[in-house]
Amino acid sequence: MYDWLIVGAGFAGSVLAERLATERNERVLLIDRRNHIGGNAYDRYDDDGLLIHQYGPHIFHTNSKQIFDHLSRFTEWRFYEHRVLAEVDGMQVPIPINLDTVNKLYGLNLTSEQLQDWFAQRAEKIGEIRTSEDVVVSTVGRELYEKFFRGYTRKQWGLDPSELDKSVTSRVPTRTNRDDRYFTDEFQFMPRYGYTRMFEKMVSHPNIHVMTQTDYGDVKNVVPHRRVIYTGPIDEYFNYQFGKLPYRSLRFEHVTLDKPWHQSVGVVNYPQTQDYTRVTEYKHLTGQEHAKTALTYEYPSAEGDPYYPIPKPENQELFKKYERLALATPDVWFVGRLATYRYYNMDQIVGQALATFRRINEALPVGADTSSVKVMSGSTALLS
Ligand code: FAD
Ligand code: UDP
Repeated sequence: MYDWLIVGAGFAGSVLAERLATERNERVLLIDRRNHIGGNAYDRYDDDGLLIHQYGPHIFHTNSKQIFDHLSRFTEWRFYEHRVLAEVDGMQVPIPINLDTVNKLYGLNLTSEQLQDWFAQRAEKIGEIRTSEDVVVSTVGRELYEKFFRGYTRKQWGLDPSELDKSVTSRVPTRTNRDDRYFTDEFQFMPRYGYTRMFEKMVSHPNIHVMTQTDYGDVKNVVPHRRVIYTGPIDEYFNYQFGKLPYRSLRFEHVTLDKPWHQSVGVVNYPQTQDYTRVTEYKHLTGQEHAKTALTYEYPSAEGDPYYPIPKPENQELFKKYERLALATPDVWFVGRLATYRYYNMDQIVGQALATFRRINEALPVGADTSSVKVMSGSTALLS
């Protein structure tokens, strides 16, 4: 008899498995339908011995010391600040848009102060910033919006930015200085030996039994367990009874080139040309030294594994229907990017899992009578 059946061995499932096993001394069966742990953060060595990310580039960044310290129990780190160029009008320029982006693109020599005025002259006044178009157009104006955001977003999401919640393009700031880092978080590191090694260390515990290539449907009525943590798509758990929640997918094309370097930074974005959105060269991220180099091209797609929840008001409404069902489901706790239908980064998922663990401790004191207690944890994890 397991105390917990945890569905999904990504960040949400693996962080919780470790906490429950270590802190509550409970027995955990951690399953994943894929043939590996790590969820979308899984990395592996390719045939040439290059470390690649199977599901596209994963760069760890956070402002939370608590989250960084927690993961530091399972890995050493390599300092890495991510830089991205966008290929626009035949040039490769920094994204997020900064002083150098505008000066290079328009052959100008503006100062930071002058750039503020330059943006102000172009920015459109918008009453209520609602959509992903509003965010950009109201900051840098329509021309830069069209060059950098419109095409990329249409490719990535199959939707116009005007149809997407403002939170999507808000992920990418605009700067008037020369800072060309993609993120400005206090902690920006890659796990020194890769994500998979970090996950292996996290779940290697005598109380945790890991089974890959195992679907929830195959074991739920077979393996005795007291409670479930479910980190898969929430609509799938409820047999799509209100209809499918849209998730955006990607096709990854992994390529190895017989030369040491392909591009000058970790990622190059293609907002105006190509069917792919971006190209990643892993050696920039991993620091690996190798005579060859490994790249991944990302082709967005409506079909395939669910990678991105799609932030739109009507999708959120549909999610809320499933959320209500989840809240009424005893002994199943819904956690993670797919189960809570939020466009969360890895650190946010670790934070959500740690918060869920604290709430489990409150709802189910160790050794006490554990009749079901329904708790709703704000707008993030769903607990029962
Ligand atoms: P997942 O990693 O999706 O894990 C869920 C697991 O559940 C999966 O392995 C799945 O196989 C399994 N599962 C689902 N249903 C079942 C079932 N019925 N039975 C058994 N197993 C099941 N975040 C960052 O912080 N930085 C980045 O640079 C970054 N880049 C990204 C790039 C891409 C292309 C993508 C798609 C995401 C990126 N992210 C990044 C986000 C990051 O991947 C997620 O925040 C994180 O992986 C979510 O963890 P999770 O455990 O919630 O979900
Ligand atoms: N985006 C864009 N052009 C870019 C970079 C980002 O239009 O050059 C938009 C696009 O809609 C994208 C979103 O901003 O999906 C968030 O970008 P981010 O790099 O955070 O995406 P992720 O790494 O999560 O795929």
